[in-house]
Order: sequence, then structure tokens, then C-alpha cells
Amino acid sequence: MNGKATTIRTRLERGRSALGPALELVHTGRAPTRAVLTAELGVTRATAGAVAAELEALGLIQVDSRPGAAAGSQGRPSHRLAVNDSGPVVLAAQIHADGYRAALVGLGGRTVATAPGRKTVSADPAQVLGAVVDAGAQLLRDSGRRCVGAGLAVPSAVAEPEGTALNPLHLAWPAGSPVRDIFAEQVREAGIAGPAFAGNDVNLAALAEHRHGAGRGAQHLLCVATGHRGVGGALVVDGRLHTGSSGLALEVGHLTVNPDGRPCYCGGRGCLDVETDPLAFLTAAGLAPGPETSLLQQSRELLRGQYGDPAVRAACEELIDRLGLGLAGLVNILNPDRIVLGGLHRELLDADPERLRAVVADRSLWGRSGGVPILPCTLDHNSLVGAAELAWQPVLDDPLAALAASQGPA
Ligand SMILES: [Zn+2]
Repeated sequence: MNGKATTIRTRLERGRSALGPALELVHTGRAPTRAVLTAELGVTRATAGAVAAELEALGLIQVDSRPGAAAGSQGRPSHRLAVNDSGPVVLAAQIHADGYRAALVGLGGRTVATAPGRKTVSADPAQVLGAVVDAGAQLLRDSGRRCVGAGLAVPSAVAEPEGTALNPLHLAWPAGSPVRDIFAEQVREAGIAGPAFAGNDVNLAALAEHRHGAGRGAQHLLCVATGHRGVGGALVVDGRLHTGSSGLALEVGHLTVNPDGRPCYCGGRGCLDVETDPLAFLTAAGLAPGPETSLLQQSRELLRGQYGDPAVRAACEELIDRLGLGLAGLVNILNPDRIVLGGLHRELLDADPERLRAVVADRSLWGRSGGVPILPCTLDHNSLVGAAELAWQPVLDDPLAALAASQGPA
């Protein structure tokens, strides 16, 4: 080791505990330059320089040292920091009512490659999980990238710490299926390195939007979304998912928004879940859904292509009013500083933002005075990006230890 490296090592002893926080700042785009990193970490320039150099040596970030590459916080040129576009990836997997999707996701929430699969989801979770892991393993072979972990998003509450899918209502899986363990075993059998995690798809979407999308900077971020079937919700407080005492918080789908409405499988009637999902929209518009594409896709095409049709417009308004009632109740209880909507709810917001905001403001105690910003989700496949966040978390917590662990036996 030469003298310069020794100096960097010495500085790094002081900065080692800053490696994880520094990586998270670059990962979430909050430290675009070394000057900003220095200020955000509250360390000396020398320490920030050593930390950035170590993250670069680990292959996680790139430090662009060309003079004048970017302006620092005081207008001086500063080294530009970015995630390493050819660095490690994680395997992200999502299961939904119409099949699955696998993806490789790098730091910064960047999707490197993705492969969708349509498949009837059978009662045995191992079947579709095997298919998605196979698809992910193929993506890894094609890319040649190093994998440091795997994350899975499922359309069910996931109980912690067991990792079981408690209410996979729109899948044929038995309630309580040990999805995380099955997924972890298949990841291991496929020879993919690193730990494996599982979470609820809307929770993960919220986490991804908070770190990389429409929720950045929000302190109390409420996310409500409907994808293929049903409605989910999630809350990110101070950067962390609020999951309740055992992973089951924010089951917003079973808020009553139409007391005389459709029966719901929870035993209630007129729940947000059955009154504002794509099936409810297609039904309200007088359409029988076809089998060719997903219900979300059919709803989206109808809303975008035939909004001039009075029946489509009336269906849209009906769903907006019911969604607004649900959101108003949530605003009263949770007092979020931002709401992001995904799936069909995002499309409803885009179709008539004023109507939705007015319903929420009229029906909520606090919405009337301040007005909670309601925004569309901005990430493609945000549940997948969120599943990747689960897998990246050990690396963000302790880059050196996590990378060493994912090397496997020497
Ligand atoms: Zn219900």
C-alpha cells in the first residue's frame, strides 16, 4: 500500500461509519457532488473525499473528477457523484394476478433489464416464484452483472417477521403461504448470491416513490394504488415504511366508501377495494372485461381513448368520488404531507385532478385548510423498484459487510 492509500485508509477509519449514509445520499440523488456530500454528512472535505473514494473502489459509485464537471454548493467546481452504471445489481421480482415480472435493478432505482411473464398463478406459490426466479437468473446471465441480493413484491400483506402472505385475496395461494422462505430457497438454488426479502407490493411502491419518485422529500407520504385487482395503501414516515406491529398496517382497501355498494370478500360492503379498482371501473362503464390484456391495461385504454364517451366519463367520476371519500378519511387519520396515487388511481387523477382534489378537500378536516398535495406516482414498475430497495438495504446499511457477505464462500 503506498503512502497516499495509507492516508486514505486513515481518514476512512474516521469515515467508515459514514459509508452507508453517503451511499444512501448518492443512491437517492441527494448528493450529486462531493461538496453536497460533505455538507450533508457534516464531515471534513478530506473525510468525504475518502468515503467517496472507498465507495468508488467498491464499484458502487463513480466520482467524476474533471475540473468544472459540476458546480458545488458555493458555486465552485466540485467532483460529481453518481451511482456506478456498471456496478452490482439486485434481482427484483413481482407477482400479480396476471403473472409476474423479473428485473435487475441497480443503485439509484435504475432498472437495468426486465422480463414480464403471463402465467396463471396456481395455488402452489413455488410454481410462479420458480418461474420469476428463472427469468431473473436468465437476465443475470445475459447481463453478466454481479448480484448482491433479491427482493420480492406480492399482492398480499406480508406478516413480519415470518415473511408469510396473509391475505393473497386475488391469487389462489393459501393464506399464510411462507413466500419469503420459498423465494429465498429458489434464489439460492438458482445460484444467485445475497439475501432474499419479501414485502407487500404497495408498501414497496411507496418506498420506491419516496426514495426515487414523486414522494421524494415528503415527511409523511401516503401512497394509495390499484394495479391488477384490489386497492392497497402504504405510509412512509421519515423515510421508513410504517408497517404496524406485525407488517399489516394500512389495509386501506377495506375502508367503506359506498355503504350500499358491492359485497367485498372481507365480509363488508362497498369497500374501496371493490369500488375503485379496474374491475369496478370497467363494470361502471358498462363493459365486460376481456381476457386479452390486464384489467388495468383495459381500463387505461378506455380512460385515455374514450374519455369523451358519456358512460366512460360518468364511470370515471363515480370512481373519483369514491376514491376521494377514502382519501379524505385517510387524511383525517394520518395527516400526510403528500399523497401519491398509482395504477388506475393515477389515471383517475390525470383524467380530472380538480374533481379528486375537491372531493378530498370537501370531505377532510385538514384538507379544507391546507390542501394536501395529491400527485401521480412517477416510476415505472415502482413495486419492483421497491422490492429492489429491500435487497439494497443491507448494502446501504453497511456497504463493506454486505458486499463481503454476498461474495459467498471464497
Ligand atoms: Zn372489504
